[in-house]
Amino acid sequence: MARRKKKGRRGKEKIRAKKVIQAPKEELKRELKISAIDEGTVIDHIPTDATFKVVDILDLENHSGIVSIATNLQSKTIGRKAIIKVGGKSLTQSEVNKIAIVAPDATVNIIKNYDVREKIKVKTPDIIDNVVKCSNPVCITNNEQVPTKFYVLKKDPLKIKCHYCERSMGKEDIEII
Ligand SMILES: [Zn+2]
Repeated sequence: MARRKKKGRRGKEKIRAKKVIQAPKEELKRELKISAIDEGTVIDHIPTDATFKVVDILDLENHSGIVSIATNLQSKTIGRKAIIKVGGKSLTQSEVNKIAIVAPDATVNIIKNYDVREKIKVKTPDIIDNVVKCSNPVCITNNEQVPTKFYVLKKDPLKIKCHYCERSMGKEDIEII
C-alpha cells in the first residue's frame, strides 16, 4: 500500500499485478508458497480425503510451528493429492504408522536446512495396535480398558479385522483413536 504513494512505481506495479493474475500457474504458485520450511517434516502424496485425518493424527491444531496444508493438487501417481508441511516437528514411528493407515501411498520427507535429508515411504503394518477404534459397539475394546488390535487383511483398499470380536472394517469405517 505504501508503495503506491511513491511516484513512478505505479506503472511497474500494474505490470506485476497483471502477471500475478495469469491463471495457469495457479497450482505451481500454491506449491511454491508452501515450499519453504527450514526444519521439519513434509508429508506428500496424501489422498485428498485423508488430508484432515492426517492433521488430526499429528494434532496439528495444537502445533505452534508453521503448518501448511495444500490439498487438491495434481499428482501423476494418485490423481489428486494433498501436501502437509510442518515446521519444527519430526514424526514418531507411531505417527508414521497411523498415517500409513489413512494414506498408504504417503511419503514422509525429513527437512533440515531447507533440504530433504531423508525420504520415507510409509508402510501399512500387518497388525494395527491401539490406533483404530472398533466399530462394533459391543466389542470388549469399547467397553473395557483393552487396547484395540486389528489384523490387516488387505492393504489397498484397506480391510482390517478386529482381533477380539472379528468385525471386518473397511476404509470408510476407520476412526483413529
Ligand atoms: Zn472389535
